[in-house]
Amino acid sequence: MNNEQVWQSVLGEIEISLSRANFVTWFKDTFISSFENNRVVICVPNAFVKKWLEEKYHKNILSALQNVTRQEIVEVIYKIELKKNNSSFQINVTNENEIDKEIVITTQRPTIPINNSNITSSNINRFGLNPRYVFENFVVGKGNELAHAACLAVTNNLGKSYNPLFIYGGVGLGKTHLLQAIGNEVAKRTDKILYTTSEKFTNNYIQAVTGGKAKEFKNLYRNVDLLLIDDIQFMGGKDGTQEEFFHTFNELQQNDKQIVMTSDRPPKSIPAIEKRLISRFESGMVADVGKPDVETKVVILEQKSLEKGLNLDREVLVYIADQVQNNIRELEGALNKVIAFHQLKGLVPTIKTVKDVLGDFISNIQSRSMSPKDIIEAVGKFYGVSVKDIIGNSRKKELVWPRQIAIYLIREELNTSYPTIGNELGGRDHTTAMHAYNKIYHEVKDNGNEKIKQELESVKQLFHQNY
Ligand code: ADP
Ligand code: MG
Repeated sequence: MNNEQVWQSVLGEIEISLSRANFVTWFKDTFISSFENNRVVICVPNAFVKKWLEEKYHKNILSALQNVTRQEIVEVIYKIELKKNNSSFQINVTNENEIDKEIVITTQRPTIPINNSNITSSNINRFGLNPRYVFENFVVGKGNELAHAACLAVTNNLGKSYNPLFIYGGVGLGKTHLLQAIGNEVAKRTDKILYTTSEKFTNNYIQAVTGGKAKEFKNLYRNVDLLLIDDIQFMGGKDGTQEEFFHTFNELQQNDKQIVMTSDRPPKSIPAIEKRLISRFESGMVADVGKPDVETKVVILEQKSLEKGLNLDREVLVYIADQVQNNIRELEGALNKVIAFHQLKGLVPTIKTVKDVLGDFISNIQSRSMSPKDIIEAVGKFYGVSVKDIIGNSRKKELVWPRQIAIYLIREELNTSYPTIGNELGGRDHTTAMHAYNKIYHEVKDNGNEKIKQELESVKQLFHQNY
């Protein structure tokens, strides 16, 4: 194997354990420049990636290297060196964002109204930022470390490290918090900050045009050091606004003025958005925020309860964290409910009392989160085969197809890792899951196969009916 082949195999191993956005961000334009005497030199495009690989992925890289080469690796050196363009090896990034449909489904379901009592207009500062959204109280964990690191890098190096920075992920996972944290931090140094939502941008633009103030509008938006736009997905379908934003964007980017955007989905998945904007959005860094793991949730709960002057037992915190699966806003909602109830009754929270209070709240949330099993069931129903057959061993054509469709949909809808999908499908190997996903993806996205698209839509309708 030559260096290129070794690295490609290593990347293949690493890829399956990471989300696509993470993978592409950290491993794009990396390569092995030398491999001698069991020493490997890995070249990376910049210092940020170098640091990240050294600190976060070194173990994964090392073990993948040993697996692939079957050699003891004595040293791995990470070096900043740009890749020459004529290299034949490239990570295929064309599908980067479509593959990573980060729990978009949550946005389609009803959310329990939780009054976010801390956000009132009185504590919004002059930039339109909530001063409570700062880096200091943002808990960093598995689902958000990439986005967090990117936000910090951008804050410390406006317009220079990643421009634009595009953060995407499901509802209530901290996107607005991070976006405003950048604003609050940068506001200590400069006044030339604009925070807005894409809806506000649209409204302002329309008002400016109809009021003969288009020039003022341009001046306002093009004269900043930092432009923060929340929920950019709502720009979809608004052609005039997109046109204006395109020019604003170019002007800022060309002058090294920082742009940060959030969205509930990756650029490519935003409906009715111009191609040239998608490519602009992807031209800097795209970072996803995913669901938090239990530890992160516990720390968040701990912090929020202390903020409210309450010291809850760790086991109670872990209990609450375990119950609320999807989103941090719901987690806060659950905590608020617990606190309110116990303060009202003058009780000390225990698992039992917390269970009583949260009973309904949790069953409401849980009934809204879909699992791979739900998808397999819907697929079975649609094709008229049993779940047992889908996850079973038979290679009959009438079973292999539903099986592949199930794999594809689980990955698309839930962003489940390939090893887990393999398990859900009767303990199959992750490569089987990956192969099936790629096959259907190719048919649908590259070949535009209408028949399959229809089938997928029909199955989706079946399982979305239940949520
Ligand atoms: P999004 O914009 O992704 O829908 P928000 O940024 O509004 O989500 O976050 C929802 C709530 O959860 C906010 O109150 C926010 O402060 C809180 N939150 C989200 N992520 C974290 C985190 N990592 N640490 C602390 N609080 C968080
Ligand atoms: Mg938000």
